[in-house]
Amino acid sequence: MDVVDKELSVYESMAARFDIAVQKLNLDPGLERYLRTPNREIIVHIPVTMDNGHLEVFDGFRVQHSIARGPCKGGVRYGPHVTLDEIRGLAAEMTWKCAVVNIPFGGAKGGIACDVERLSPGELERVTRRYTAEILDYIGPERDVPAPDMNTNEQTMAWIMDTYSMHVRHTTTAVVTGKPIDLGGSAGRREATGRGCMMTCDEALKRFGRERQDTRVIVHGFGNVGSQAARLMHESGYKIIGVADISGGLYNSRGLDIPALIEHVEEDRTIEGFKGGESIGNTEILEQDCDVLLPAATESVINSRNAERIKARILVEGANSPTTPPADHILFDRGVFVIPDILANAGGVTVSYFEWVQDREGYFWSEKVVNERLHAIMVSAFDQVVGYGERYNVNNRIAAYILAIDRVAFTLKLRGIYA
Ligand code: NAD
Repeated sequence: MDVVDKELSVYESMAARFDIAVQKLNLDPGLERYLRTPNREIIVHIPVTMDNGHLEVFDGFRVQHSIARGPCKGGVRYGPHVTLDEIRGLAAEMTWKCAVVNIPFGGAKGGIACDVERLSPGELERVTRRYTAEILDYIGPERDVPAPDMNTNEQTMAWIMDTYSMHVRHTTTAVVTGKPIDLGGSAGRREATGRGCMMTCDEALKRFGRERQDTRVIVHGFGNVGSQAARLMHESGYKIIGVADISGGLYNSRGLDIPALIEHVEEDRTIEGFKGGESIGNTEILEQDCDVLLPAATESVINSRNAERIKARILVEGANSPTTPPADHILFDRGVFVIPDILANAGGVTVSYFEWVQDREGYFWSEKVVNERLHAIMVSAFDQVVGYGERYNVNNRIAAYILAIDRVAFTLKLRGIYA
């Protein structure tokens, strides 16, 4: 396998994997350059009057990587350290993710550099609405459709939808996904990313002839993705022996009581203080003995410094970019079966696609229908990625990239380049 031998930024990591994958596809060098470069990068400076009367200015970003296969699609994240480079890398990964699950979207990502812990609900709403107003000309159901990501949620989407609708003078539910169900959200969207992680994990277990009941799982990150994945996996018979969030980790070799932990987090907004397990550091927990490790927090938590000590046999990447390229190489050599982010966590964007379809139809599906359609897509994408891996003799991540780039390149060749 080709080796990338240093830790890289999110965009550089994406580009390093892209470069390995395109070598297998024999693409025209100009097309290669076009595919790895974003279509458009928007930087906005968002003035907001704070509760104390002072004016603050926040930096916001929206990067639209590709519209080759349909409108741009991708989350908006808030965080004190959000950067353009990170958003640029994640936007490209959205293009590949939508192509892996074969839904008719391109890729985008957005973010605001702000610390949500230090903003009041009113300040958060004003930041969100002004950000929306600043990028208004570039989003829309046929242009670019934002969704929740780290530190954003259904309420954030409701504010974006309302702000957009006020400007265009009619309610436009399909401008965002991940909305509350009462505002045109889809049944099953809240659970979709975690559910998709479980569905791909189930497929991996089948390959190894393992049963859920004998499978010990550690979930790193306990927000939307991590808590839902933990809940669904717990309900399906997996044993969740460890979880972590920003405050630290919890470990219990007999299995954690996940419903009780979720109740605790609903009240306290942190896993800290939960009595059902021993405390452990939130990086240390990644190295504990388990069968499945499910990172669902942030970037680069599995890297060249700890990849040798990861004990899991299966890595299900709920988070985006949790593993660095050097760690990929180490995990591959150690025989860890990696379900890469652009496959494992694609359940979220898949049900976002269903939400967008339902909003445009004005007709809503039952949760059963949503989950059945999600299952069909996730299983088919899993089989195709593993099939590409065997055909090209590459690991699952590079296989997913090859599958995705092949699909986007094919569409671009059909469309041609407008001059
Ligand atoms: P979230 O904000 O709801 O939750 C993030 C969780 O990670 C929180 O529990 C937080 O405490 C924890 N965390 C943050 N830093 C940590 C650290 N250093 N160590 C341990 N825990 C830490 O975010 P989310 O929506 O669940 O997203 C999590 C990841 O999944 C992100 O990488 C996101 O891009 C990705 N993702 C989300 C969706 C979605 O539908 N929400 C879809 C696809 C991918």
